[in-house]
Amino acid sequence: MKFKIDEDLCIGCGVCESECDAVFEMQDDAKAHIIANPAPADAEDDALSAEESCPVDAISHE
Ligand code: SF4
Repeated sequence: MKFKIDEDLCIGCGVCESECDAVFEMQDDAKAHIIANPAPADAEDDALSAEESCPVDAISHE
């Protein structure tokens, strides 16, 4: 499962990293970035939770 972040929408709240730091990481630009693509199988559930928790719906997956 591959996750994507729309950086134009991301407000840098950090929720995704706190839900799944195997896939999402806050970086110096104050935006979240994908650090594992595809997501490790054992991190998919947490990554999906992060997607649902994003307050601006910036995360999607395929
Ligand atoms: S949860 Fe959404 S808005 Fe918050 S840092 Fe992650 S991608 Fe950005």
